[in-house]
Amino acid sequence: MRSLAHYAGRASSLFFRNQCWIGGRFVPAASGRCFGSVNPASGEVLTDVARGGVEDIDRAVQAARKAFDDGRWSRLTPAVRKDVLLRMVALIRDNAEEFALLDTLDMGKPISETVNVDVPGSIHFLQWHAEAIDKLYDEVAPTGGRDVAMIRRMPLGVVGAVVPWNFPLDMAIWKLAPALAAGNSMVLKPAEQSPLSALRLAELASEAGLPDGVLNVVPGFGEEVGQALGRHPDVDCLVFTGSTDVGKLFMRYAGESNMKQVWLETGGKSPNLIFPDADLDAGADKAAFGIFFNQGEVCSANSRMLVHESVADDMIERMRVRAEAIVPGNPLDPQTRMGAMVDVRHTARVAEFLASGRETARLVAGGSRVTVGASDAFIQPTVFADVPSDAPIVREEIFGPVLAIQTFRDEEEALRLAHDTPYGLAASVWTRDISRALDLSERLNVGTVSVNTVDALSAMTPFGGVKQSGFGRDLSLHSFDKYTALKTVWIHY
Ligand code: NAP
Ligand code: MG
Repeated sequence: MRSLAHYAGRASSLFFRNQCWIGGRFVPAASGRCFGSVNPASGEVLTDVARGGVEDIDRAVQAARKAFDDGRWSRLTPAVRKDVLLRMVALIRDNAEEFALLDTLDMGKPISETVNVDVPGSIHFLQWHAEAIDKLYDEVAPTGGRDVAMIRRMPLGVVGAVVPWNFPLDMAIWKLAPALAAGNSMVLKPAEQSPLSALRLAELASEAGLPDGVLNVVPGFGEEVGQALGRHPDVDCLVFTGSTDVGKLFMRYAGESNMKQVWLETGGKSPNLIFPDADLDAGADKAAFGIFFNQGEVCSANSRMLVHESVADDMIERMRVRAEAIVPGNPLDPQTRMGAMVDVRHTARVAEFLASGRETARLVAGGSRVTVGASDAFIQPTVFADVPSDAPIVREEIFGPVLAIQTFRDEEEALRLAHDTPYGLAASVWTRDISRALDLSERLNVGTVSVNTVDALSAMTPFGGVKQSGFGRDLSLHSFDKYTALKTVWIHY
């Protein structure tokens, strides 16, 4: 890591791309309108960004459609597409610090995380999917006789992607890497709070040799740009990461337009089950990471701890110590472990949960909104214990650094509490008993179960949820399922 002075100096001289990227070039929004992209840690407007609308989405979809239909990308061999995406990987690596700064400035997360986690993660995920694409074989069905039946994987066409602000570069890459590798064209809508890294990414993709029109980025507001993409009659597939309420809207948009495929990665309220035979210190370390990393703005954050009553007091004390050790600070300081919340509106929403938690539960640590420098968009790492099952802090996704602890008597009660939520994204189990671990991992109705760790995630393993956490999977070879359609080609001779 470099010094605060280094990052602050570099931040003050950054050049921000701030227009729509359509057909291989930057263009203003058709309406000429803009919106401010704000640094929540200072309250300053970083730059005025083009505020896309229906017309811009239409132009972007047309550019993507043309690029898809003439085969400039879709009909290149997978090996050639791989080479272009690997050149893109190299360019992101060359500009890694700039990407880290863009996301830190735009959404307030610590520079240590963008430098060490977000940007290396994005590079790795793009590289992994690029390298996979020329190793996926199609199938031939065992028909026998004078027939050959091929089962081919075809790109879908135009993919729309609408992503959130919590990991701006990573969420864009999670969608774009398999979609582009498979030969699709794309229109990407970054979150209004964090559009800057996606715009820079599109420019670098072009420099890497991605043909014009294959990747388009239209910044703007959800109800305008997001809705226009969701309703566009020439978009074949819409992939979304964000809240459950907005995810449901995309199903409606599809139903009311062209029945495009919709894949949703939505909210979570993931439980962390702690049994008395667990390594409690390791469990507490990981639980603190799981809820305080990225200011708790993580869909799979283990925001609920379910702890066996015999070790509850121990565990609550451990969590108090860990929460109080993390102090919100300037995101550009490499020592900072908790930065700003994404914006003041979201900070106010999290603060309302803090107030509601004080009324319904016992405050163990933190519990306040705080000011750092000129901004009050900061929240202390917070722990509540004795949380009743109907309290909003244990029922609703807070998307902030707020842990709700409940206790259980036995496995059945732990499972009942774990499942008492509309969500099913992830769960963790802490135990040294292999039978219990296997049994619970089978019975927990979620997309990922982590045993003796939290938030297990890799390019090799699928990520996504069940219930109202959505459907479809990002990452792994299974991610290509979303971006391809199976085509049967039957030849009789
Ligand atoms: P959000 O409000 O649902 O926004 C996500 C995206 O949808 C943004 O680009 C947003 O645009 C757009 N959008 C908002 N309203 C829309 C509308 N009416 N029509 C079309 N698009 C619309 O979510 P967020 O607050 O940015 O992110 C937090 C949520 O994301 C949490 O619920 C979290 O759990 C979820 N998340 C899930 C995963 C996962 O993999 N399961 C990963 C990360 C985050 P604007 O930016 O203009 O609002
Ligand atoms: Mg911002």
